[in-house]
Amino acid sequence: MYDVVIVGGGAVGCAAAAELAKYQLKVCLVEKESDVCEGTSKANSAIIHAGFDAEPGTLKAKLNVRGSSMMAELSKKLDFSYRNNGAMVLCFDEAQLGELEKLADRGRQNGVPVEILTGAQAREKEPRLSDEVVYALYAPTSGIVCPFEMTLAFAENAYENGVEFRLSTEVTGIEKTAEGFTVQTDRGSLETKAVFNCAGVYADKLNDMAGGRHFNIIPRKGEYLLMDKDAGTVVSHTIFQLPTKMGKGILVTPTVHGNLLVGPTAQDIDDKENTSTTRDGLAEVRAKGSLSVKDLPFGKVITSFTGLRAVGDTHDFIIEESTEGFFNAAGIESPGLSSAPAIAEMLRELLEKRMVLTPKPDHKDTRKGVTHFAALDRDAQNALIKEIPEYGNIVCRCETVTEGEILDAIQRPLGATTLDGVKRRTRAGMGRCQAGFCSPKTILLLAEKLGVGIGDIRKNGRGEVHEDA
Ligand SMILES: Cc1cc2nc3c(=O)[nH]c(=O)nc-3n(C[C@H](O)[C@H](O)[C@H](O)COP(=O)(O)OP(=O)(O)OC[C@H]3O[C@@H](n4cnc5c(N)ncnc54)[C@H](O)[C@@H]3O)c2cc1C
Repeated sequence: MYDVVIVGGGAVGCAAAAELAKYQLKVCLVEKESDVCEGTSKANSAIIHAGFDAEPGTLKAKLNVRGSSMMAELSKKLDFSYRNNGAMVLCFDEAQLGELEKLADRGRQNGVPVEILTGAQAREKEPRLSDEVVYALYAPTSGIVCPFEMTLAFAENAYENGVEFRLSTEVTGIEKTAEGFTVQTDRGSLETKAVFNCAGVYADKLNDMAGGRHFNIIPRKGEYLLMDKDAGTVVSHTIFQLPTKMGKGILVTPTVHGNLLVGPTAQDIDDKENTSTTRDGLAEVRAKGSLSVKDLPFGKVITSFTGLRAVGDTHDFIIEESTEGFFNAAGIESPGLSSAPAIAEMLRELLEKRMVLTPKPDHKDTRKGVTHFAALDRDAQNALIKEIPEYGNIVCRCETVTEGEILDAIQRPLGATTLDGVKRRTRAGMGRCQAGFCSPKTILLLAEKLGVGIGDIRKNGRGEVHEDA
């Protein structure tokens, strides 16, 4: 009998797992894919929003501001990349100044520092901004993060503190029992006192299984272009346009790893699995991105991708106990990444009304990710190669990732079992050639360490249950 079963291993489910791992609870996280961070948490803008955009008084506003204030410390303790780079929202027409002021006012009500700059002041901070910019809202507390590193950091910290992970396991039904729930999966059933529904675009289906008040989650597609590191210094801030009712619009931003990201579009669709990119969508990204920043180097695009926002019909986060012992974290669209640790705290507070939570005396609040060889100085690199010779073999030339890092990614707790799993833990395959050169060697290393044939190694997606999990 578990105390809590968490459904979904995205940023929210993994943050909730890390939060519950602070207490003497028996917790299991169930994820239908073969790794954590396979849903929306892997495909988004990676902005830690300052919190000026959300309607004051909403959960989005409250949890965004709280989550964003936690991020710097969490990134140090759990070892994930985060940078406080600041953001600007551009206004191209004097007539739009009122809207920018409304946004600034919302920010002040949410307790977020903001300032309105003239076009000239904005261009002083960001020389490549369009000449058409007449005003800009400046938000110094906005940041950028690596969403894979963040989600993996929460997951590994939870795992090291005793949370069980059942990967490649899909929840197919939920039945109320005298003690709590039977959670049916395609790999057997689990008995639990409580359930956290962190199932992203499928949170409405999970809620229906438990018989909660019905709501719909509509997938809203967002398409992106990612550019090479050569283009990463075109801007240093995150550059937004004025938001619309469909979201925050097309942005241009550096990533924490030094690439340049432009997107996303916003299109409501029916299919919860449709992460295709389209010619029209990417043309829109180019056209709208070019309104904000001059001469965007589209010749340096290395990949395109799509993420699906989980848009709930209340247009706010749905975080509630929907039936006794069944807790929803649903409708977690943007700013869900920024809010994830605060959503986790809120879920724990709701659970605390149901059961007594006793802190775990030996809880570890730090975690160390894969050591990135290229980030070390020469002496540290030499010392590492002396200790573990595999750090002397470069496998991914674009991102300078060594065999030692790939072996660590495979062999560490909740280790990688797929090419994408290795990529998200080490960046092998994230660079200019998009895994053209390093895939064969990475496949060999995966096959050797997992004890399977090379034909069994997948790029991503469901496979065998992870041995350690
Ligand atoms: C285009 C776009 C841009 C965004 N930009 C930002 C941004 O800049 N900043 C920000 O703060 N937020 C942003 N967001 C929002 C943010 O990405 C999400 O709020 C966040 O990733 C949601 O995390 P999650 O854990 O709720 O969902 P997910 O990451 O989708 O995780 C849900 C998990 O549940 C699993 N699951 C589903 N059903 C089952 C089942 N039956 N059994 C087992 N497992 C199941 C799925 O496989 C998945 O792994 C953006 C989103 C999009 C799409």
